[in-house]
Amino acid sequence: MHGVYGARSEFVEYAFRDTTGLSKNQFGLSYEPVTSPSPSSSLSSRRPNSLFIRGGRIIDPASGRDEVGDLLVEEGRISESTAKPKDSSVPVIEAKGLIVAPGLIDMHVHLREPGGGQKETIASGTRAAAAGGFTSILAMPNTNPPADGPNTIALMRQRALETACINVFTTGCITVGMKGEELAPIGSLHKAGVVALTDDGHCVQNNEVMRRALDYARMFDLLTLDHCQDYNLSAGGVMHEGYWSTVLGLPGWPRIAEDMIVARNILLSELTGARIHVQHLSSGDSVRLVREAKKRNVKISAEAMPHHIALTDASLEKYDTNFKMNPPLRERIDQEALLAGLADDTIEILASDHAPHASYEKEVEFAEAPFGIVGLETELGLFIKILIEGRVLDWTSLLAKLTINPARLLKLDRGTLAPGAVADITLIDPKHSWKVDSSKFYSLSRNTPFNGWELPARATHTIVDGHVVWSLKNGFTK
Ligand SMILES: [Zn+2]
Repeated sequence: MHGVYGARSEFVEYAFRDTTGLSKNQFGLSYEPVTSPSPSSSLSSRRPNSLFIRGGRIIDPASGRDEVGDLLVEEGRISESTAKPKDSSVPVIEAKGLIVAPGLIDMHVHLREPGGGQKETIASGTRAAAAGGFTSILAMPNTNPPADGPNTIALMRQRALETACINVFTTGCITVGMKGEELAPIGSLHKAGVVALTDDGHCVQNNEVMRRALDYARMFDLLTLDHCQDYNLSAGGVMHEGYWSTVLGLPGWPRIAEDMIVARNILLSELTGARIHVQHLSSGDSVRLVREAKKRNVKISAEAMPHHIALTDASLEKYDTNFKMNPPLRERIDQEALLAGLADDTIEILASDHAPHASYEKEVEFAEAPFGIVGLETELGLFIKILIEGRVLDWTSLLAKLTINPARLLKLDRGTLAPGAVADITLIDPKHSWKVDSSKFYSLSRNTPFNGWELPARATHTIVDGHVVWSLKNGFTK
C-alpha cells in the first residue's frame, strides 16, 4: 500500500501550502503552479555558446514565421538581432538551402537505462536522437527497475547529466511497478522532476485506479500519457486482427482493444479535468473518438508514429519480427484515418516510440519476439517522405508537431525560435536523399523495418544551447 499512502501524504503537504499566486484544484485546495522543469544533459556544465546561422529558411511554427534570413545565437539564447557578430571567433553556419527549425522534440522514447544496457543506454540513445535531429527527448519509465519512485528518477537524471548529449526529460510511472494496482507516489515523482506520468508498455486496466491517478495528476498539472490497450480484448494478440492474421495464423489484437481505452480516457478526462495524451494511435476509430472529444473541449491529445502511417499489416507476410510492434500495424483504412487526423490537427504530436531490442531477442519465432522498433534515426526522413512529399502537411504544421506542440503539452521551455528562447535548433536539408543503413545507426539496436529505404531529407545540424552537438558532415563534437 506504500504507493497510495505515499501519494496521499504528499497530497496533504502540497495542498496546504498556502501562498499567493496559487491555483485551485478540483477540491478547492491550493498547490504550487508548475514551473518549467529543467532537462538533464551533460551540456549543463558547458557554457552557453554563440553562433551565427546564415541564409537559411527559418520556420518557427510557434510564431508562424517562415522566411529566409539569418539567425544569431548569443550565449545560448536566440538573439533579437540578426546582425553578423563582429567577434570573428563566433562560428558561422552557412545554411543556404537548409531549413532552420526549433530543436526537434520526441516525446516517446525508450532509453533502456537502467537495466537494459545491451539494447540502449542514455548515452547511445541520445546520440541516436541527435543524429536524427532531436534536441530533446522524453524518456519512458519502463526501465529495470521501473521509474516508479524518486530514486530511479534521480539516477536517470544523474546518468543523463553525465552521459547525454541532448536534453533528456523524464516520466514517472502511474502505478507501482507498472502493475496497474497501486498508485506510484505521484507527488514525489513530480518533485523529482518528471514532466509526465505513464505506464507505457502497460495500460492501467482498473478504471478506479486510473481515475485516482488522474485526480493526483491534475493537482500537479502533470500530463498523463496512456498506452491504450484493453488486455481482455487483445489477449494473446501479436498482430492486427483481420485478413492477414487469418492468413498467417497468428492471434489478433483488434482495434476495439485500443478504442475502448481511448473512450475510457475521454470519459475520465471529462470527469476529472485531467489532461490525457493517448500514445501511438493505430486505429482509425480512435482518431474519430479523439476528434469528437476535442470538439467538446475535452483535454485529450494524441500522437502518431512513422510506422503506423508508413506500413500496414500486409508487411507481416514474411513473419519478419522487425514489423512486430505494439499497438500493431493495421490496415489502409486506419492509415488514411491517421493521415486525416494529422491533417486536421486531431493528432498534434509526431514521435517515434523508439523501442530498441537486441538482435537475439528479435531473432526468434514471431509470436515469441518482443514488440517494438527503433525509430530516432529514421523518423524525420519518414515524416518528410509521407507527410510533406505526400502533401498531407506543410512544413509549418509538420514542424509544429515536433516542436512547439510537445513543448506546450509538457510545459517545456523549448520548441520556438522566438528572441530570448533557449537556442535549441535543428537544421534540415529538405533535398538530401539518403538510404537507411541500420549497420550505421548510433543506437545499440538494429530492429528497424525501414532498412534499405530511400528517404528524401535529413537533419544536418543538431544544436543544443547554442552548441553544435552533431552535424552530418563532422559527426559528434565530443
Ligand atoms: Zn506503448
